[in-house]
Amino acid sequence: MRAPAPTPKRTVYTEAMEIFHRAADLIALDKRVRLELEEPDYEHIFYVTAKLKDRLVPLSEEKARTFSNLPETQVRNKEGLELLANGNIILNGRALLGSDVDIRQGHLRLPDGKVYQLVPGESQRFKAYRVQHNQARGPYKGGLRYHREVSLDLFKALAAEMTWKTAIAEVPFGGGKGGIQIDPREYGREEIEAITLRFMYRLKSMIGPDIDIPAPDVGTNPGIMALLYRQYSDGERERHNLRGIVTGKDVRIGGSEGRHKATGQGVAFCIEDYYADRGESVKGKTFIIQGFGNVGSHAANILSQMGARLLAVNDADGTIFNGDGIDVTALSAYVQDPKNLKRSVLGFPGAQRIEKKDLWDVQADILVPAALGGEITADVAERLRVKLVAEGANGPTTPEADRILEKRGIELIPDIIANAGGVTVSYYEWIQNKRMERWSEAEVDQRLERAMKRNYRIIRDISRNQPRKTEMHDSRQYCIGETVDTRCAAMILALKRIEAHYLLEGFSQ
Ligand code: NAD
Repeated sequence: MRAPAPTPKRTVYTEAMEIFHRAADLIALDKRVRLELEEPDYEHIFYVTAKLKDRLVPLSEEKARTFSNLPETQVRNKEGLELLANGNIILNGRALLGSDVDIRQGHLRLPDGKVYQLVPGESQRFKAYRVQHNQARGPYKGGLRYHREVSLDLFKALAAEMTWKTAIAEVPFGGGKGGIQIDPREYGREEIEAITLRFMYRLKSMIGPDIDIPAPDVGTNPGIMALLYRQYSDGERERHNLRGIVTGKDVRIGGSEGRHKATGQGVAFCIEDYYADRGESVKGKTFIIQGFGNVGSHAANILSQMGARLLAVNDADGTIFNGDGIDVTALSAYVQDPKNLKRSVLGFPGAQRIEKKDLWDVQADILVPAALGGEITADVAERLRVKLVAEGANGPTTPEADRILEKRGIELIPDIIANAGGVTVSYYEWIQNKRMERWSEAEVDQRLERAMKRNYRIIRDISRNQPRKTEMHDSRQYCIGETVDTRCAAMILALKRIEAHYLLEGFSQ
């Protein structure tokens, strides 16, 4: 007797692909195109090693008692001590040279009164990934994430999402994603630099400005992009022609004006258009946000400039609430303060602390999830007291939660359009690099606004089955003769655009 076929395991990737299959069925996606898109083109897993620095690790109060009569070490070169978010201190340069160091069994006491164990720097190995999902429409494109909770499965889901997003944004790229399994807040500046350079040393054979173009994501930023660019182009004769190897760079070294805020700006443009369509405005609306990093803080800033009021924020370290409205400028300054090592909203004086679970009960017009995936679970979806969810994060809503939101009449602006502002301006950066041009912020914002709103309107038309051509957009070739939910509509737009490349160009043999 034959054993029954095993039930396919449910993973982040299979969950993320549910919407792909639903949309593919609805439009009867060409079978071969479906096979091409179901799995990534390439999945790279590799390892990055780096030599860590010596560090001081604080002892618990109980253990520190053993050293109660240990005198304080007077540190001459305080600049050399780098305090990390987890309380460890990296010894940079010759931090303790010339100091009166009193070490007992590898322990010393600093002027802060705490006892630290001196841990010599050793070499460490980190797991790294790059998934290249699809390049039918152009070079692979997608961010690099430095985070403790990453996996091949997660990067597959995020890379596929980039394929859909670049098609929706109508930029000539495919999809990719990658990163390192690491909590960057536990490493010093020079360690992160060494890990990043080694990462690019390994990545170099897989990517290129016309092959695969990384960008910032969770835990990475323009500083990391600068290091990646340098390592990629080091020693190359035409290094100025290689600037397009990464996007999201500082504007002073070939980044684009408006890129840093672009994802948050795109989220805000979508929300603005959502209300404009209903004859309303963002002004006077209230919102709550999860994640106050790049996407969350810029979205909050721009929405508040549009006249909306921020009521609550949750991040990795805690949640804050103020029913009268949180001053977003003051909150951004608080989070950016170098003394705020965790870059957290926690402790902000202009709001009270609440529990994370209470965030979902705050009554507001809009929720912007802008942290990690899978946060809006079925439970959360049942509790939410908002009217609109605008997904700044990638994959924040589980498929069960999606169905509950729909049943409860909570509207959705799905991630693949809502957060497409980042990759859209990354494309502008890439063009500027290729052409050696420099566009103004106003020009970038204007192009971005048109691109976001044009594609969002096409998605709304698909959803309502309202084919039409206006001065701004043309949805006639995308509507499918029946109404569908917005997430499915966005996927239909992506798949129709990708399918056209395969069907018109054919398949190489
Ligand atoms: P970031 O590292 O700048 O900020 C991440 C934020 O999420 C921080 O405030 C952090 O405290 C918070 N966070 C982390 N873990 C959390 C948890 N378990 N619970 C609550 N909050 C948590 O990252 P970012 O660039 O702002 O990216 C945020 C999301 O937006 C990610 O899903 C990313 O994939 C997506 N995204 C980013 C861009 C971009 O241009 N940066 C573009 C498209 C999509």
